[in-house]
Amino acid sequence: MASVTFEGATRVFPGAERPAVNKLDLEVADGEFLVLVGPSGCGKSTSLRMLAGLEEVTEGRILIGDRDITNLPPKDRDIAMVFQNYALYPHMSVAENMGFALKMAGVGKEERATRVREAAALLDLEDYLDRKPKALSGGQRQRVAMGRAIVRQPQVFCMDEPLSNLDAKLRVSTRTQIAALQQRLGITTVYVTHDQVEAMTMGDRVAVLKDGVLQQVDTPLALYDRPVNLFVAGFIGSPAMNLLSARAGEGSAVIGGYSVPIDHEAASKMSGPITVGVRPENWRLVGASEGGLPVTVTVVEELGADGFVYGTCDVEGTPGTVVIRTESRGAVRKGDVVHVTTDPAHVHVFDTESGARLS
Ligand code: ATP
Repeated sequence: MASVTFEGATRVFPGAERPAVNKLDLEVADGEFLVLVGPSGCGKSTSLRMLAGLEEVTEGRILIGDRDITNLPPKDRDIAMVFQNYALYPHMSVAENMGFALKMAGVGKEERATRVREAAALLDLEDYLDRKPKALSGGQRQRVAMGRAIVRQPQVFCMDEPLSNLDAKLRVSTRTQIAALQQRLGITTVYVTHDQVEAMTMGDRVAVLKDGVLQQVDTPLALYDRPVNLFVAGFIGSPAMNLLSARAGEGSAVIGGYSVPIDHEAASKMSGPITVGVRPENWRLVGASEGGLPVTVTVVEELGADGFVYGTCDVEGTPGTVVIRTESRGAVRKGDVVHVTTDPAHVHVFDTESGARLS
């Protein structure tokens, strides 16, 4: 069993005002691919480094299966780490780089060669085993770093932004390869990224962190469909969810002059100021007489299959920004005033002050 459990894991750096990671409770199932995501400084690398043994745990504990590893040195944790900068040894060949940790662990030459060959085959690196890292492309170096982790046959992979040095196109193809490889090997993986698209496409589940505090952990679609608070709502999804200030009406939320029906549960919980969230694809363009939200178009982005219309709307005297996904090529132009509505099922309602979801 190689589940990973963080139990109230906390890291306070000396002299810091608040913990870099604050009472993290998180369980990663055996064989699961879990992504830690959040903006810069939210504590995702520190969480991963505590698991890998590279950062002290100030409070709480971390387990692999039922083994408490909180105070074990990194080499005794049965974890392999893949770093952002790959950390390859420049004077060693690809094969030597991949086999180095095994050599240090006292694994014999033949066994080493077999494991390196197997990993090289998995990663399409067989033709490069004699090369030095400087004679490889960025993508190949990234695969060597992966290979070095794989040959160790660890219980857990820890990956810290392993794709961030690749160009955009290679990043997309490599993320698919890593996800497929992880599935094939079935090794429990904790993966850190600041990129929510990477998180959504790779993770079985995604844990969203902010200011050292876990906000929500769930499957990518559950995060997208039911964000627990304003932060997750704004962070997951690209372009981001429209978040508009509103006031409570009778079973509805009122945005400027537009009244959007909301479900009973949310309506019963509304006490103070509220924020209404609508995904860009959940707006529908309607005629001016149909009582939608008027939006003055400022930018139109045509992407081919679909497009995004950006605009402003009047929310209680202050302009709100709106983004609408549309398939109606060329029908909307800058300067137009369009009207949009949405269905109650697609409306997210949040308490503006606490940020909490109300339904
Ligand atoms: P990034 O995406 O920028 O790497 P992150 O989410 O991985 O960010 P961490 O590196 O975990 O964030 O940092 C969390 C917080 O801890 C930040 O406020 C950071 O400044 C602080 N921090 C990280 N390492 C140290 C350190 N060695 N000493 C003091 N503070 C640190």
